[in-house]
Amino acid sequence: MLSDQLKEQLRRYKTDKELKKEFKIIASKDPDSYFPTKELKELGYIRKLCKCGTYFWTVHKDREVCGDPTCSGGFQVVLDNPSPIKLSYIDVWKKIVEILEPRGYKPIKRYPCVARWNPTSEFTIASISAFQPYVITGEVEPPAKKLIIPQFCLRFNDIENVGITGSHCTGFVMIGQHAFVSPEEWDQGQLFMDMHDFIHKGVGLAKEEITIHEDSWAGGGSFGCSLEFFSRGVELFNQVYTMFEQTSEGPRELKLKVLDMGLGQERVAWFSQGTPNMYEATFPYVLKKLREITKIELDLDLYNNFSQYSAYLNMDEVDDLDAAWQRVAKEINIDVKELKRKIMPMTALYSIAEHARSLLFAINDGKLPSNVGGGYNLRVIFRRAISFIDKFKWDVDIADVCSWHAKELRELFPEVSDHLDEIREILYVEKEKFYATKKKAKKILEKILEKGEITTETLIELYDSNGISPDMVKEAAKKFNLKIKVPDDFYSLVVERHEKSEQIHATGKEIELNLTGVPETKSLYYYDYTETSNKAKVLKIIKNMVILDQSVAYPTSGGQLHDIGTINNQKFVDVFKYGNYIVHIMDKKPKFKEGDVVEVQVDDHWRKQLAQHHTATHIVNAAAREVLGSHINQAGAKKTIKKSHLDVTHYEQISKENLMEIEQKANEIVKKSIDLHLDFVPRSEAEKQYGVMIYQGGAVPGKNIRIVEIPGIEVEACGGTHLNNTSEAGEIKITKSQKIQDGIVRLSFTAGDATQKLKEKNQKLIKELKS
Ligand SMILES: [Zn+2]
Ligand SMILES: [Zn+2]
Repeated sequence: MLSDQLKEQLRRYKTDKELKKEFKIIASKDPDSYFPTKELKELGYIRKLCKCGTYFWTVHKDREVCGDPTCSGGFQVVLDNPSPIKLSYIDVWKKIVEILEPRGYKPIKRYPCVARWNPTSEFTIASISAFQPYVITGEVEPPAKKLIIPQFCLRFNDIENVGITGSHCTGFVMIGQHAFVSPEEWDQGQLFMDMHDFIHKGVGLAKEEITIHEDSWAGGGSFGCSLEFFSRGVELFNQVYTMFEQTSEGPRELKLKVLDMGLGQERVAWFSQGTPNMYEATFPYVLKKLREITKIELDLDLYNNFSQYSAYLNMDEVDDLDAAWQRVAKEINIDVKELKRKIMPMTALYSIAEHARSLLFAINDGKLPSNVGGGYNLRVIFRRAISFIDKFKWDVDIADVCSWHAKELRELFPEVSDHLDEIREILYVEKEKFYATKKKAKKILEKILEKGEITTETLIELYDSNGISPDMVKEAAKKFNLKIKVPDDFYSLVVERHEKSEQIHATGKEIELNLTGVPETKSLYYYDYTETSNKAKVLKIIKNMVILDQSVAYPTSGGQLHDIGTINNQKFVDVFKYGNYIVHIMDKKPKFKEGDVVEVQVDDHWRKQLAQHHTATHIVNAAAREVLGSHINQAGAKKTIKKSHLDVTHYEQISKENLMEIEQKANEIVKKSIDLHLDFVPRSEAEKQYGVMIYQGGAVPGKNIRIVEIPGIEVEACGGTHLNNTSEAGEIKITKSQKIQDGIVRLSFTAGDATQKLKEKNQKLIKELKS
């Protein structure tokens, strides 16, 4: 579809941002080639150019501006709502199903909002994330060629706006309309009509109220054009037609065409109901409960007035927040202090309700509040909610708010009611931590404040290292007659800083080997750990490093130590993976040469001990989950000869009693003599059969993934060497548990011979002490 000239033109653009910008211009120059103009014209839409440079479609022949709120003058949905059909929050999903299911779209269940299958993102940030990266790359079959999904997503870049602007959330449902089809099956006109019919016939919105923008999209090297549906300044949804990928030779048409339509369920519910803001449309039951306790009534007139201008307070676009409040106050003709006094408690209620909903989903789906990675975002919103509760001295328990959400959402998401007791316990511990910090804070602050001024950097440091929020600093500063300036985007700055420091940690060093022309190594260690020798051809020798055509030797990976052994009776002391090559490091320069046929022999005892420790790790993981609860996920593991450890997500130290119970459960699994089931399975099949729990050890690449199943106990995608039967693990002994970072506890243990050796050592020690 792209001419050679255009391909050449686009070849220069490497970043998604550049591609998006350039492709928008190209597509709008030739709309008939890129947009469903036939359908648009048949529906009576006319194409126009807005002063902002965007081409848009409208049925009004006199309309001059596009639907963007900056061009058309803010949101206008509250006072004179254009939607004839009022849809509750859950109705929005039902309506999509009603219109699209008969047209061949399969409704599917949401994926977890903690994206364990995805190596690039911790949280699910869009409906299409559920299918990234492997469906998009064609490695995995999609659940259906055409589907719809109510995907709960989390994004933490706008925390300060939540509650204030009336349309910002950290957690939201993006309803996805997706198609994954070949170019022959691709029918852009029909895909467009399906959504147009949804909004026009399903929601009953008159065409006069709809404005459709021409735009483009680019992400992860793919790009295409898009149509954005607007009404009354509200972007209702965006339909992206992903058709090309960028390569070094320029753009190429994708073999799998992807439709990515994302519709904000909260937004459309709000639009349809015309409530003063998105929160009122999304969780009215939760807000009712909160109002009963706090006695904070909604001043509807004031809020309706305020909500028309609250977009001015969007932190992304405002430099001076005080001036923005002044501007809003002036617009609605009220004193700014009076406005804040009345509006702030209302917005605090919204924030508490919104944050509780995100916490409910995130914890339910396997993420804990902590000081690390994505867990940190959860801590930030939890503490923001608690700060509001404390500020207004409300008797509100966030765990209760979570359970009200679960009740309100039961019809659509029954699974979030499954672990409410556990979530309550987790939030209780988190609250205790918060207050302990607060107590400690007083002393620290007095010392710092005596010295005077506090910089933003110090504020961030205080929050980051000691959990002291800017509000606490402000409060303490009053005594010293100091005014503290807190940046409006404080929490974003904190999160940003965390992301930076974690990226630095993630960068490692690697050696460079030139292996052009050398075929990859075939791994022979996946099926039976007792097979410890093989014949192989030597393909490449670089100094002491040997690459064979195939090998039973296990390279260090997945937290499991490498094998040792011999090649032609010469010792190898290390094995590592280099891409898809297995590299053996010999203790001396090899006597054999490239092209020779050699005999590989892995040390049997070494191999067995590692297999015992690895299978024991899966067993202990299952036992810990049974004893401590479903929030237990593997966060890391290491298996060596002497011992093994497993890091699990847990919110406090593990008690002695619980440790003993875990050990007992683990040994029960050993004694049950269960045969392990090890197999390579197509990824889509594995996900269908076991769910995304298989990725708890981390995301794994490849079209076929290796599944390690202890039937009835545990299943995981894992590449390690495993026993054939649990009884071969011998006795499992938990030697230690320690909190290694916030929200993560390390369990150290031994199995098999290592346990026996440990016992003997202990007995010897006791003997020595006695004598
Ligand atoms: Zn415009
Ligand atoms: Zn494993």
